Amino acid sequence: MSDAARYCYSAACTWHGPIDSVGLTDPEAVKIPGLPTGHRLPCCPHCGSVLFEIESAAKWEKSVAKAEEAGAVNYVAFIEWLRDCGRCFETYENALPVFAKKTGLQATLGADSE
Ligand SMILES: [Zn+2]
Repeated sequence: MSDAARYCYSAACTWHGPIDSVGLTDPEAVKIPGLPTGHRLPCCPHCGSVLFEIESAAKWEKSVAKAEEAGAVNYVAFIEWLRDCGRCFETYENALPVFAKKTGLQATLGADSE
């Protein structure tokens, strides 16, 4: 599998995207006692949050579609908008009203959320 197929999502914000669009931490930001500085870690290109990785965008998209099938209204459109909106949000809840304002669509995060 090539690196280009790998897909990343943030541990602490709403950013997600392909591996070739990740940011890199400041080389002075990672300080581990006993190890030299200068290491850079993949991170959200907007806020610097560290990332998780899954094997492919297809796997990510499948999980997003599954959430919509389970009751999250307009979830696929919401997640795609998050990828393309040019910023990240601290939480998905914080992004919902901005998504609604920009697209005119109401989205939910699951069958139980409003
Ligand atoms: Zn971020």
